[in-house]
Amino acid sequence: MEINAMQAVQWIEKANEKFQENREYLTSLDRPIGDGDHGLNMSRGFKEAVKKLKAGNYSTPSDVFKDVAMTLISKVGGASGPLFGTAFLKMSVATAGQQVLNETAFVKGLEAALDGIKQRGKATTGEKTMVDVWQPVVAWLKDNGFATASLLVEAEKAMNTTKDMTATKGRAAYFKEKSAGHIDAGATSSYYLFAALAEVLGG
Ligand code: ADP
Ligand code: MG
Ligand code: MG
Repeated sequence: MEINAMQAVQWIEKANEKFQENREYLTSLDRPIGDGDHGLNMSRGFKEAVKKLKAGNYSTPSDVFKDVAMTLISKVGGASGPLFGTAFLKMSVATAGQQVLNETAFVKGLEAALDGIKQRGKATTGEKTMVDVWQPVVAWLKDNGFATASLLVEAEKAMNTTKDMTATKGRAAYFKEKSAGHIDAGATSSYYLFAALAEVLGG
């Protein structure tokens, strides 16, 4: 597995397609235990990111990730913009200067992204957030590499673990025990992001 700038762009385009298609679903997840804007936030942010990427000319994945980060941070209000923005920014820094990322380099980028999310959100696993998808999926990729069919399965499994959790971070934490029984919205958008990656790397 290798990823170049063109594939990095394709990753974001595929992710954008998923966020547009599932905008209402993501918002419906954010309604009972949040403020019902997650679908709007993700669809707006990634639409703008794709627009930005189409206008650019990229020689490294790092440059792609940087523009995605800047767009998400500047265009998306709410928790998810800065959190996903930080993820892409850390990925950009960790992979800077490399035209092609091999598996090891890319996983390093994803690990930096995960650390960035955890720092920015002051969150760890079990708090019913996007971290509950990022952490197990990145760990799994580190151990197993990009066997793409399984990446999708792992990401979906991780997303579903958030259903029974009680939220202790983000808006859902205000609902305390009542937050249990709903899948987390940001965990679901993180699942779409990894599903898009699996599609791109699967050719
Ligand atoms: P907001 O809650 O500001 O309206 P969104 O609805 O776009 O923002 O995003 C909510 C998602 O962000 C949650 O479902 C959760 O996955 C994630 N999230 C919220 N707070 C945190 C945090 N402190 N750490 C990690 N992820 C978080
Ligand atoms: Mg919200
Ligand atoms: Mg909001």
